Amino acid sequence: MQDKELYRQVLGLASPWVVGRVELNVEEQRVDVFVEHDSRVKWRCPQCDRELGCHDHTEERTWRHLDTCQFVTQLRARVSRVDCPEHGVVQVLVPWAEPRGRFTLLFERLAIDILKHCQTVKGACEILRISWDQAHAIYGARGRARSGSQRSHSGRTDRRGREGVSSRTGLRHGRLRH
Ligand SMILES: [Zn+2]
Repeated sequence: MQDKELYRQVLGLASPWVVGRVELNVEEQRVDVFVEHDSRVKWRCPQCDRELGCHDHTEERTWRHLDTCQFVTQLRARVSRVDCPEHGVVQVLVPWAEPRGRFTLLFERLAIDILKHCQTVKGACEILRISWDQAHAIYGARGRARSGSQRSHSGRTDRRGREGVSSRTGLRHGRLRH
């Protein structure tokens, strides 16, 4: 089965990112998609956009993605870091998630929609199979993004534009404020 190509397309991955392998764990009802990159690629410093070679990689990071046929699906990757003469050793941006996000952008979008339509956060958490704290983090991050910067088509976020924006969330006492 061409599962690597299937997941590359499902995740919308473009060069230099590719799916290295896909692991299916039936017992735990989980799919792990390992994302890798071409080693010759040049990266950009997330602060100043300077083009640089790969310095090293982070430890493997995990992002929760949309489920695959009821199986919890996780994207896993070691993210490149560049050594910028101005900003030091920093992690490059990945197109599927916010810099410190623990969920993919597509999962966050679904979570926001479900949170908006559920009467209680608890109900939304049960559908999404996430904790209250995770729901709070997603809703808070998106609230900041809405009042701060817009994501560009290249998938980059204007981080400078997000600084100084208050982190008001829509969640209070287990209910959503609209
Ligand atoms: Zn830099």
